[in-house]
Amino acid sequence: MITPAAMDLQARARRFVENVLMPLENEAERRGGRLPAETIAEVRREAIAARLNGGLHAVEHGGQGWSRLEWALVEEQYGRTTNAIHWHVPYAYNVWEHASTHQIDRYLRPALRGELRDAYAVTERGAGSDPSGIEATAVRTKTGFRLNAEKWFVTAGDHADVFIVMANVADGLELLPTLFIVDRDRPGVEVIEDPAFTHNYPDGHPTIRFRDVELPGDSVIGGIGKGEALQRSWFTEERLAIAARCSGVIWRLLDETVAWATSRQQGGQRIYDYQGVSFPLADSAADAAAGRMLTLAVAELADAGADPKLVHHKASMAKLFMSEAAWRCADRCVQTFGGRGYLRSNVAERMLREVRVDRIWEGTSEIQRLIVARGLERRGVEAMLRAETGK
Ligand SMILES: Cc1cc2nc3c(=O)[nH]c(=O)nc-3n(C[C@H](O)[C@H](O)[C@H](O)COP(=O)(O)OP(=O)(O)OC[C@H]3O[C@@H](n4cnc5c(N)ncnc54)[C@H](O)[C@@H]3O)c2cc1C
Repeated sequence: MITPAAMDLQARARRFVENVLMPLENEAERRGGRLPAETIAEVRREAIAARLNGGLHAVEHGGQGWSRLEWALVEEQYGRTTNAIHWHVPYAYNVWEHASTHQIDRYLRPALRGELRDAYAVTERGAGSDPSGIEATAVRTKTGFRLNAEKWFVTAGDHADVFIVMANVADGLELLPTLFIVDRDRPGVEVIEDPAFTHNYPDGHPTIRFRDVELPGDSVIGGIGKGEALQRSWFTEERLAIAARCSGVIWRLLDETVAWATSRQQGGQRIYDYQGVSFPLADSAADAAAGRMLTLAVAELADAGADPKLVHHKASMAKLFMSEAAWRCADRCVQTFGGRGYLRSNVAERMLREVRVDRIWEGTSEIQRLIVARGLERRGVEAMLRAETGK
């Protein structure tokens, strides 16, 4: 249920998005996603003043302590903007919840004040959709661990202060996937490639090499061998966020495109009056309304303390549906704008490029289908289809 407090929060996020983020979109696009430092500082100040920093993190750690539902409503607003300018809102990955008091003081609190940035490094050359194939190793030493890894597509790896790196710790013949905290300034940390990508976003996604990086004994998050479980909860959160943002993507696209199509005249009438123009938009509206209900229902399920495995399966269903729907919608809206839809100054053009990756990162659509199919088998058809929390 969306409470009055959640409605207030949604309205606050909406004002921030419309007054602070949207006016910066064209400049961000022209500058390849990289806004000037003083503009970024201003976005951060405004975000903190609007109490949007650190949304899901605990209040005692400097976050806002939102429910999943409140957080999804905010992410939906962020989805209405292009160029991911909302990435400047101070935040940190959810795995810090499992960090020690010392780690929280050193990394999480400054991150939620906008003074430190983290990056999450799991993917490797040979391990993408199947992260169990990672080759990164952390060997025990007298003082801690020695890390060797090469990580691909590390978002914010070009400027992050600290990396969260997945590596295997050997225990006899067993390999224990574990998350390590690695400060950027440790000897042996090196950006080896920083390629250009389709979108113009604030962060790069470089390849990072960690060669014989010496780590202290207290650089593990959540315990040795806990990497996979933490990873699953990270995926659940990120996939739900993508679903919520894609609902915002369709909202913005339809706002802009319906306004255009009802004002544009060709052949002596509004183009909106051609069903070839309006019916695809109607289909996207139906997608958005249905997908939004699914996404918010999964968020409520998580808030109600449902079985995390069920939430994991259903978050995949929401991500799959919404990322595919947003892609279809962006393509339809570019078409509706005609030649203007191919201009980089047009929201639909930017959205088309930007939503493409939502079908790839945090697990491709094919991987989401595998997870949904497994959910149907293991949790049951009824549990996968039911929207109510059962509590
Ligand atoms: C812009 C960007 C930012 C990213 N940021 C990060 C980050 O910060 N940290 C991080 O660790 N990673 C990050 N990633 C990596 C991302 O999560 C992976 O790209 C994604 O999981 C897919 O892995 P892959 O690229 O190796 O593709 P592959 O796993 O090689 O897949 C290639 C194709 O094969 C298909 N496929 C693979 N296995 C199966 C299967 N079992 N069944 C059916 N089809 C299958 C896939 O669906 C896909 O179509 C980022 C990627 C991008 C593009």
